[in-house]
Amino acid sequence: MTSVVNYFRSLLLGELLQGMGLTMRYMFRPKYTMRYPMEHIPKSNRFRGLHALRRYPNGEERCIACKLCEAVCPALAITIDSAPREDGSRRTTRYDIDLFKCIYCGFCEESCPVDSIVETHVHEYHFEHRGENVVTKPQLLAIGDRFEAEIAAARAQDAPYR
Ligand code: SF4
Ligand code: SF4
Repeated sequence: MTSVVNYFRSLLLGELLQGMGLTMRYMFRPKYTMRYPMEHIPKSNRFRGLHALRRYPNGEERCIACKLCEAVCPALAITIDSAPREDGSRRTTRYDIDLFKCIYCGFCEESCPVDSIVETHVHEYHFEHRGENVVTKPQLLAIGDRFEAEIAAARAQDAPYR
C-alpha cells in the first residue's frame, strides 16, 4: 500500500514543490555573510583537520607502532619505522605524514586501536618551505599536547556513536 501511495506522490511532484517552497522562503530572507576569519562556523566533533598524536595522562605516548594506520591509508601518506625500547615495549622511531598526499579521509584514526592518531579541528595552516608538508612525530606529538583537551572532549561527545 505504501508503495502505491509513494507512486502517486511521485506523480504529483510533491517533494519537488516542497523543495521549491523552501527555496522561495529563503530567497526573501536577509542574507548573512560570515566574516571569515574573524568569524567561524561551528565544526562537527568529527571534523577532519590537521593530524595529531596523543599521549596518556601520564605523558606516555599512546602509539604502539602497530602500523595499522600506515596499512589502511589509501594515499600512502603515512611512513612509520619502529623499534623495541629498553623496557621491551615497541614504539615508533619515525612517524611521518605527508600532508600533500593526505586526503583527510579519517581512516587512520578509525583504524587506531589506542586512539593515538587523530584529526583535530585545525584547518588553518600553511607551509612556507619545501618539505614542511611532511609532519614528523615530534611535531604531531606537539600538536596533540597542545589540543589534547579539545580532542578528548570531542571524542567523549562522539563516543556513544563509535
Ligand atoms: S586521513 Fe586518510 S589519507 Fe590522510 S593520513 Fe589518514 S588515512 Fe591517510
Ligand atoms: S597511530 Fe595507532 S594505528 Fe598507527 S601505528 Fe600507532 S597505534 Fe598503530
